[in-house]
Amino acid sequence: MKRKLLTAFFTLILLGSISTKGAFAINEVVGSSPYDAQTTKSVGIAKYAVLEIIEDWAPIRLKPDENSKRITHLFKGAVLFSDSQIKEYYRIELEKTKGKPDYYWISKKFVEVQGVIPEKRFEDIEKITFKNETNRYDIYIKTNTKGAFIIEDKPTGLDFTLYDNHFDPTGTKIIGKKSQFSLSDKIENKLEIKYSTKKPLFGYKVQNYEDGYIYTIKKPPSISNRRPLKNLIVVVDPGHGGIEKGACAFHLEEKTLNLQISKKLAHELRKRGAKVFLTRKNDEKIGLYERIDFAKEKNADIFISIHQNSLPNTKYLAKKHGVGTYYYNNQSKLMAQNVENSLVQNTGFRFDGVNNASFAVIRPTDFISILVECGYIIKADEAEKLADKKFQKVIAKSIVEGAENYLREAFGKK
Ligand SMILES: [Zn+2]
Repeated sequence: MKRKLLTAFFTLILLGSISTKGAFAINEVVGSSPYDAQTTKSVGIAKYAVLEIIEDWAPIRLKPDENSKRITHLFKGAVLFSDSQIKEYYRIELEKTKGKPDYYWISKKFVEVQGVIPEKRFEDIEKITFKNETNRYDIYIKTNTKGAFIIEDKPTGLDFTLYDNHFDPTGTKIIGKKSQFSLSDKIENKLEIKYSTKKPLFGYKVQNYEDGYIYTIKKPPSISNRRPLKNLIVVVDPGHGGIEKGACAFHLEEKTLNLQISKKLAHELRKRGAKVFLTRKNDEKIGLYERIDFAKEKNADIFISIHQNSLPNTKYLAKKHGVGTYYYNNQSKLMAQNVENSLVQNTGFRFDGVNNASFAVIRPTDFISILVECGYIIKADEAEKLADKKFQKVIAKSIVEGAENYLREAFGKK
């Protein structure tokens, strides 16, 4: 719905039911556990505050804490219902099944309170259109109120849930649905779209458009076993740059090693037929979100960020060694495993884990995304190797080999 209409919609509810008289009286969390539904007390007649998101990519979290797990990211204009608040966070109630809410949190800095209401009100989803494009499925969900959505990335596919929208399968116009997709059949205040696939996932995203959301799922790529990287778009991201030197030790700067290795990696990838873009080619400072936007702009299939490791505390210096690979979304784990294995085998560096970590550059779901910490720049023996041009080439080749192994394992002809 256009923003003005939306405001009008809630204003109507307000006028028809209660008067707000200044301050919004919504529930306060009491007791020691703010995560428990039983610990709120009503401090006014209104049960819910209607929140509108004022910034794109606003994170919804599991707990009221900026280090807590991110459940989803929402766009400007999305509408949420909050039943309580604690310090800098509003609690969001999302009903998975009628009367059985899950609770999440959003920082107050991302929202504006539109009003308070005694009961939630939902509008109907008008139309769902499935479009079968060459490399992807686009699903247009036409709705007036843009509620919160959550996507679960599973080994068997994706579960998309759009909350706070009334979905009636008999009343909603559904166009072009394919057999890989199933829609929730119950009439509830949510829409579920389940996508099932036998092959691993290769990227998905939700975009905002005037009349609702576009949910896109990339199809598995058709690859040749001999040259699996051929025609795939790979973005290589040399970490840090400019005044952001990264970790420094033994007269070495991380940003320089990152760029040297990234250039060799780009060269190897091109040799294997990939279309490669570097987020930086020179010693310049680039923001984390600029790197992400660049990869999205280039329609990346694969994103590889290159870094050199260090430790915040020398206490662990004797314990930590070698090369580690990081991923955030489940769909990227298989690639991380293959790259890590290849690096350990070919470099002789010790295994430092296939690690799940919430680094900004690997959080997007649009593409398969990993971050490689090639070695510890703060350890003399590893630093010496990392600065060696021949060894850098071994690293580059190992990453490419790992990427090819991943593609064959995931999408190759058996
Ligand atoms: Zn770094």
